[in-house]
Amino acid sequence: MKLAMIGFGQAGGKIVDRFLDYDDRTNSGIVRAAVAVNSAKADLIGLENIPQENRVLIGQARVKGHGVGADNELGAEIAEEDIDEVQNAIDAIPTHEVDAFIVVSGMGGGTGSGGAPVLAKHLKRIYTIPVYGLGVLPGTDEGGIYTLNAARSFQTFVREVDNLLVFDNDSWRQTGESVEGGYDQINEEIVRRFGILFGAGEVGEGQDVAESVVDSSEIINTLSGGGVSTVGYASEDVELDTSGGLLSRFTGGEQGDDGLDAANTTNRITSLVRKAALGRLTLPCEIEGTERALLVLSGPPEYLNRKGIERGRKWLEEETGSMEVRGGDFPRQEPEVSAAILLSGVTNVPRIKRLQQVAIEAQDNIDDIQADSEENLEELVEDDEDELEPLF
Ligand code: GDP
Repeated sequence: MKLAMIGFGQAGGKIVDRFLDYDDRTNSGIVRAAVAVNSAKADLIGLENIPQENRVLIGQARVKGHGVGADNELGAEIAEEDIDEVQNAIDAIPTHEVDAFIVVSGMGGGTGSGGAPVLAKHLKRIYTIPVYGLGVLPGTDEGGIYTLNAARSFQTFVREVDNLLVFDNDSWRQTGESVEGGYDQINEEIVRRFGILFGAGEVGEGQDVAESVVDSSEIINTLSGGGVSTVGYASEDVELDTSGGLLSRFTGGEQGDDGLDAANTTNRITSLVRKAALGRLTLPCEIEGTERALLVLSGPPEYLNRKGIERGRKWLEEETGSMEVRGGDFPRQEPEVSAAILLSGVTNVPRIKRLQQVAIEAQDNIDDIQADSEENLEELVEDDEDELEPLF
């Protein structure tokens, strides 16, 4: 499907920038337009692929291009004040060619955390196409203020979008990585997962037409109904053999005279679906109770079969307890077969409950410190016996 992507704040901008790169590399054609919005000039300059004219600096009157310093209330205020400037950039997008908006932001910071929900609300008021959010949760080691920001942003963002797709940095943190190097890998994971999912409805000219194609309306229907979504993913390589044909670890290399072994392909697909659903999700949660799901199997057409997808879909119905599980294929000439699973309307998410708990503790702590602050300062500045006199 064709998306208008708006990256709000540093993380949002970097992720949308990376989506453009992914689009270019894979020829997937999902990003119809890309805009970056920020209150920090340096972050906008650092982007590589988003066109200059689509980079919008907001809040200049208030923060002079220096960002909001993780103050997400200020982030929300300046987004509201300068919404017309953001709208000007969006006006240049051919929205009649776009299936949905997606507003991307890190929820732990200031500009995106506060601004993304404001923009989503604005877009929903003006346009009839869906407005989705892609919100990134901070790592648990980032500290109280980031957790508090994320908890408040999450609550607001969910309310303002048609569906909030969540990615949890904490689940993808790697030990011993530099923060920047870590984000590079994490952002690649984000674009791969969401790229396959949104790319599924975008079969271009000359590409194979899928046996049972996933089209954009199926993605939209899976996301409709609102709430919070998470994405599972698993892949297996299929390799080129020396004679130039595809020899596959995926099929165990046991090809009969009639090509790939159908039963083996079916079994491999179902186990790939299980791996995707039970492995690492973008937001860890219990999949039982998921309201709707979409399974996208992608890879060379000879490695996809209807029976495998059907079995995978049935298994997902049983595991989630949902009767609304859609599925289809996304033929791509890549040397791998992958399963991407969108679980929409998840409700059993202990990670969010923990985040909220830590956020409340952080908020209480900040309130206590603020309450004591005047008294403590006075105690420091005044001498015990009041013998000193201020100058004036
Ligand atoms: P803002 O510019 O004020 O909106 O704040 P940032 O986007 O810099 O940071 C918000 C949060 O996003 C941080 O607390 C991190 O958890 C996360 N973050 C920052 N940069 C990246 C990135 O490149 N990728 C990912 N996945 N997360 C990021």
